[in-house]
Amino acid sequence: MAKYESVNPYTNEVFASYENPTDQQIEESLALAHALYKKWRHEEPSSRAAILKDIAAKFQEKEEEMAKTMTLEMGKKLSEAKEEVEICIGILNYYADHGPELLKPVDLPNPYGRAYYLKQATGVIMACEPWNFPLYQVIRVFAPNFVVGNPMLLKHAHNVPSSAALAAKIVKSGGAPEGSLLNLYLSYSQLDQVIADPRVQGVALTGSERGGASVAENAGKNLKKSTMELGGNDAFIVLSDADPAVLKAALSDARTYNNGQVCTSSKRMIVLADRYEEVLADMKEIYSGLKWGDPLEDSTTLPPMSSQAAKEKLAKQVEAAVAGGAKVYYEYPEIDAPGAFSRPIILTDMTKDNPMFDQEMFGPVCVVYKVKDEAEAIALANDSSYGLGSSVISSDIKHAEEVASQIETGMTVINGRWITDGSLPFGGVKKSGYGRELSPLGLNAFVNEHLVIDFTDQNQQ
Ligand code: NAP
Repeated sequence: MAKYESVNPYTNEVFASYENPTDQQIEESLALAHALYKKWRHEEPSSRAAILKDIAAKFQEKEEEMAKTMTLEMGKKLSEAKEEVEICIGILNYYADHGPELLKPVDLPNPYGRAYYLKQATGVIMACEPWNFPLYQVIRVFAPNFVVGNPMLLKHAHNVPSSAALAAKIVKSGGAPEGSLLNLYLSYSQLDQVIADPRVQGVALTGSERGGASVAENAGKNLKKSTMELGGNDAFIVLSDADPAVLKAALSDARTYNNGQVCTSSKRMIVLADRYEEVLADMKEIYSGLKWGDPLEDSTTLPPMSSQAAKEKLAKQVEAAVAGGAKVYYEYPEIDAPGAFSRPIILTDMTKDNPMFDQEMFGPVCVVYKVKDEAEAIALANDSSYGLGSSVISSDIKHAEEVASQIETGMTVINGRWITDGSLPFGGVKKSGYGRELSPLGLNAFVNEHLVIDFTDQNQQ
């Protein structure tokens, strides 16, 4: 792991750096969070829900500052950074509005006596998050666990430490009690120690297969429940009857949003033969129309990648894809700038023996496949070790639903690209991980479903 440093990928300038915590700071954080968990056990979720509302209002107030910090650290367009803050405000409000109701005890009809299960907090949660949505990834874990009563320790990605610090500061300024969200610049070995600590009861990671496998192994070794939100190689299936306008609208930012650095970005366009040329032309129009520049400027539509390392990794992957037989249908012109810019590229003729066939390419690379029929489209969509999101574009909704049900994936959007909202579950299958975040499902991720049953009548018989 590199050290925790804020580097502007547009200029390559380092503007902040942070040290790992001392053993004493880690111990103090664990003690603080654990004490809060014990205190919260005696309080109703409704009191925390009210605080979530105040935190949401604080993020509204600080939207500009939060968004700008994210843009400076990882290069996303400022307009998208603001959208990210808005999405987070929606998530905070969702759990504020619905959390207390969703946490009510659940009655269990049974042959013995009155029974129900309580939904209780379990303890401190260790969240390990990636840089691509520096605030959203944090709030996805923080908001549900806050209302449940599970304090959170955060180990954010090494390249977004300033966003992590600001997010924690805003949460605190919104009235969250000390210990609710503690940001720690942990090394990997310090993270291992924290996960092993008996006060930590859950581990949530969003990130790559590599990071996920390592942290899940450690959580498993210590018998800690975990959720893993990992990578994707999502299929965007275009059926013959797709409405051209709907198709174009769905395509418009399916592979360009966040410069293609979205886990659910439509990385594989799987197109019925009679629509193949149209999709290639649409994608070429979208990519060639982008304007590179400073992500803080409104006119910029092609910002830099998150870092030079991300740019270099993607370039190597594209090189390997082409060496493996993929053809370049389109490539954006040279960009003469020092920043971490990647030229958007459309690849075709990707075959199963290509080394990149089953690899996630995290950036502006669009792979377009031509298939002869729907069965081949579904088989190709499922021929992946990932299973996170997907799209089906068709004018026949009933039929699109049938196709959706045949895809081995965690999420499918009909006639649209990927989506996220507090009310909708997010997560995948296969190497895209396990567990769900957001929605009622995400609320239950680290809940103790505590059974209580009255056996009195049985004992009196
Ligand atoms: P990453 O390298 O796995 O990093 C994610 C987090 O895990 C970071 O905090 C990272 O810390 C930490 N980490 C990585 N390896 C670790 C290890 N061996 N031990 C302990 N901690 C470790 O992922 P990324 O490259 O930053 O993020 C991009 C990936 O995230 C893509 O694959 C994307 O698809 C996926 N993603 C998934 C979702 C989803 O919901 N499914 C959402 C967004 C992104 P350092 O930064 O310090 O290394």
